[in-house]
Amino acid sequence: MENYETIWKKIVNNLRLEITDETYKLWLEPAQATGIEEKNLLVKLPNKFFVRWLEEHYSERVNNLLKEFDPDLKIRFYTDRKDEKTGLRETSSDRNETRFLPSEFNTKYTFENFVVGQANHFAYAACMAITKNPGRAYNPLFIYGGVGLGKTHLLNAVGIEIKKRFPSYNIIYVTSEKFTNDLIEYLKNNLMAEFRLKYRNVDILLIDDIQFIADKEMIQEEFFHTFNALYDRRKQIVITSDSSPKDLGSLEERLRSRFQWGVVADIQPPDLETRVAILKKKTEAEKINIPDDVLYYIASNIKSNIRTMEGAMLSIAAFASLTEMRITVDKAKEYLRTIISPSEIEKDITLERVQDIVCRHFNLRPSDMKSKRRTESIAFPRQVAMYLGRNLTNKSTIEIGSFFGGRDHSTVMYACNRIKTKILKDPYFLAMLNKITNQIKEGE
Ligand code: ADP
Ligand code: MG
Repeated sequence: MENYETIWKKIVNNLRLEITDETYKLWLEPAQATGIEEKNLLVKLPNKFFVRWLEEHYSERVNNLLKEFDPDLKIRFYTDRKDEKTGLRETSSDRNETRFLPSEFNTKYTFENFVVGQANHFAYAACMAITKNPGRAYNPLFIYGGVGLGKTHLLNAVGIEIKKRFPSYNIIYVTSEKFTNDLIEYLKNNLMAEFRLKYRNVDILLIDDIQFIADKEMIQEEFFHTFNALYDRRKQIVITSDSSPKDLGSLEERLRSRFQWGVVADIQPPDLETRVAILKKKTEAEKINIPDDVLYYIASNIKSNIRTMEGAMLSIAAFASLTEMRITVDKAKEYLRTIISPSEIEKDITLERVQDIVCRHFNLRPSDMKSKRRTESIAFPRQVAMYLGRNLTNKSTIEIGSFFGGRDHSTVMYACNRIKTKILKDPYFLAMLNKITNQIKEGE
């Protein structure tokens, strides 16, 4: 038979094919084969926690693999570490100090910088309420929503605001991933008591992206106890997630129900108007200059993820300043195609579709659009259609002009400018345009 080290190495290599790198690093890398005794392959682990975890999750699989080396060979995980010490270990190292350092917040993610719209209003209001009355108003607060919709931003804003109002409060902001890594780190060093001291001794626990621990039983168990300890003492807990507690498939039931004890608020993708406002706010904060029609163009074309939308805007701005060009809708269009995936950009919108929806909205017939009539009741909807055609399709001003009754491209440019001016002056008009745009895109 092969030597115990080789056997274990082969087993681990086999397991690695089935697990993520991260799981491998956490659980298997620290494991060390130390010998074979009475048909037991001995594998040494940092502590009892590891033994329990590996026994629970890997024993069966490993025993199956071991049969290939020797039908009677079995795995035995063990540790030579004594049980965890109950008291606090004496640590004068400065590592210890950094552990207890209060969380740093991203100073850009404040309530002031957060644009409120219908899609995030409830989550925003709940967060605000918490800052006035932590631990009392809504506890826990569970916020969920898709990627890049402002969950981390709001969570930070809560932290910053509470710090302002209650300077003595001990606030921890962590991603659940960091919580996990922390837990493992403390475990490895046999410092569970310290871990608990750190996490259970806070006034506010802000935990981001909880979905990360949904499939990690042991982590959930520890989090469960953290949650209870805080909740019982009326300490505020705010949790974010990419899906609702109900949809966090593999989350333990007892956590799932606790997550719903307080308030559950969702964040939806914001509407066009809010997206434009977000971009505008960003240009002000970053002191960059981008014409409004370009912002409008970006906002109408990237709608599901604010981060992607902001990123697109910033890189257009950077590109423009590097090449010293003036940013126009055309340039933005061209450039956007190179930086975001086609699925993010609108496609397949035809001028017919734009025309039909605009006609429906203004109660006109398509033939009116194409007619020579220039009365305002027809000319204005036609200009709206031209503007939307310009923004939502890839057609040139020449093509658009000829589509709408054989007009020339300067007529289209004039229409676009007129609509742009109106957007800036008239929020109701913007809202209407927003509605028509969504109808065109979504086929209601
Ligand atoms: P999530 O955590 O939901 O994935 P983030 O909070 O990281 O999303 O938000 C992504 C980016 O979008 C950040 O730069 C954030 O400031 C911005 N953002 C999202 N929603 C808003 C909003 N309503 N107002 C202003 N900025 C927003
Ligand atoms: Mg986030």
